[in-house]
Amino acid sequence: NARSDQSDDPVYFDPAQAAAMRRRIDIEVGLRKALREHSLSLSYQPKVDCHGTLQGLEALVRWQSTELGTVSPAEFIPVAENSGMVHDITLQVIEMVTSQVKNWQGKGIPVRPVAINLSAIDLSIPNLVQEVVSRTDQLDLSVDLLEFEITETALMVNGETGLDNLNKLKELGFRISIDDFGSGYSSLSKIAYMPVYAIKIDREFVQDVPGDSRREKIIHGILSLAHSLDLSIVAEGVENAQQLEFLRTNGCHLFQGYFFHRPLDITGTEKLLATQSEQTLFRTGLNAATC
Ligand code: C2E
Ligand code: MG
Ligand code: MG
Ligand code: MG
Repeated sequence: NARSDQSDDPVYFDPAQAAAMRRRIDIEVGLRKALREHSLSLSYQPKVDCHGTLQGLEALVRWQSTELGTVSPAEFIPVAENSGMVHDITLQVIEMVTSQVKNWQGKGIPVRPVAINLSAIDLSIPNLVQEVVSRTDQLDLSVDLLEFEITETALMVNGETGLDNLNKLKELGFRISIDDFGSGYSSLSKIAYMPVYAIKIDREFVQDVPGDSRREKIIHGILSLAHSLDLSIVAEGVENAQQLEFLRTNGCHLFQGYFFHRPLDITGTEKLLATQSEQTLFRTGLNAATC
């Protein structure tokens, strides 16, 4: 520990801290360039029901940097948020998703609703709804093909403008889900008054069931309250059959996770969309009677 508690001591150079700062700067510079060059791309992760049938997709931004290699959004989105770039990323994501959906429609590929992640900063932009609508109008896309995911933390910090944006989006027919539910500090009672239709249970809870009895109880509680509020529930990060079984028997009906599908590139997504009607039950070994 290079830093002393004595306030009149000099602050020593901390190599780890310097490296972290260097990394942040590299990411910031690289991202700015990626935005200029429109070189970000998207993966699409399927959301399925308990038969494994495709119900929707989540768009996940991808960045392959020439200088830094693949950088995860878990790392670069926070940097983008802190350097005023995240809304530009969002606008490019919206543009990519809407063009992609339009493209699939043009090819006669049956599409499913695609969810876009919004950050807290997007919610605070007064023009957000206008930006979304001008894009869907321009492409003549139906609103029910787009959804938005907002983390519960973003929902809580965003006061007037945020709630206003969400209400407008909902009135226009866009669906809104609460992402990473359980990881923040909101309560279901608060969410009952939000214009949301679904909550996504955070992977952190899903990964420890069955087995961790506290988490089991939390999930059970989330599910039963969500049912009484008529909210739809998606479990994130389902990686094995035991998790699926636990969630399913507790009343969860939508799932997302490596057990079903990893995020897919465009070709993979297209293949899945094209064959969705032929999707069978062999993948999960479940049959219609069990769910
Ligand atoms: P998220 O919105 O909660 O997305 C789910 C993340 O969990 C994705 O990571 C996905 O690949 C990963 N995941 C899905 N199933 C499993 C599983 O079974 N096991 C494990 N271990 N992981 C699973 P990804 O793509 O790295 O994204 C990380 C986060 O970055 C996202 O979490 C979201 O908060 C943010 N993000 C991604 N794309 C965007 C975007 O376009 N805009 C904004 N604002 N944030 C984004
Ligand atoms: Mg999400
Ligand atoms: Mg999530
Ligand atoms: Mg999560």
